[in-house]
Amino acid sequence: MIAGLGIPDGIDPLAGWRYWRADEGWLCSLNKLKTWPAGKPLVAQCPLGMDHGPLPGEQCGCGIYAAIDLETLKELVQPHLESPLVVGEVALWGKVIPAELGYRAEFAYPRRLWVVDESISTLDWLGDLPVNLAGRYHVPVESCGAGWAVAEEATNPWQLEPRVREIRAAVSAFKQSVDRLAAALVQGDEIYRAELARLRAEERTEAIARSAFQSSFGTHMQDVKARRPDGS
Ligand SMILES: [Zn+2]
Repeated sequence: MIAGLGIPDGIDPLAGWRYWRADEGWLCSLNKLKTWPAGKPLVAQCPLGMDHGPLPGEQCGCGIYAAIDLETLKELVQPHLESPLVVGEVALWGKVIPAELGYRAEFAYPRRLWVVDESISTLDWLGDLPVNLAGRYHVPVESCGAGWAVAEEATNPWQLEPRVREIRAAVSAFKQSVDRLAAALVQGDEIYRAELARLRAEERTEAIARSAFQSSFGTHMQDVKARRPDGS
């Protein structure tokens, strides 16, 4: 326990992971709308003011959120590095509702923190940030690299989505062609050859469309060059 404030120490097994912004040495939510108190737990509030008994409510979205581990947090949230970013473990207690990717809790207090180096401007006083946070919240604070604390952009699954759609469409078109050929084959040699010729023509159409697109792109590039004032 931290100085009898009712904050569980490392013996309590329940911990989640969160990001914070550091604002003048205080931990804030990423949108900076909520400041985490020092020396006493953050207590969940119901933003809807619902009368559903102890917080968090099962059917409500309230409670203090934390991801189940750092890897999950990195998948769920991709914070920018333009202002001081802190990542860490948070103790959760009181009423805690577990979910697949994390928890919603009634009480929370940071347990161990890391300040992300790349989010700190070298011109700032913030070189002292780990020391300031440790002094204020009385928990261990270290610094860490963004490579450990933040997901790479490329791992964002939404960026892969258009490519997945393209591949699925190509596979489905291929299957349709095979089915059409198989059906034509059953109907006889002549119909099969006609269908095969039609499919080959389709492929040619696609090749022609592609080359037309590429050449129009090339023309556009030439136009841009021609418009440059130095004529180069
Ligand atoms: Zn609620």
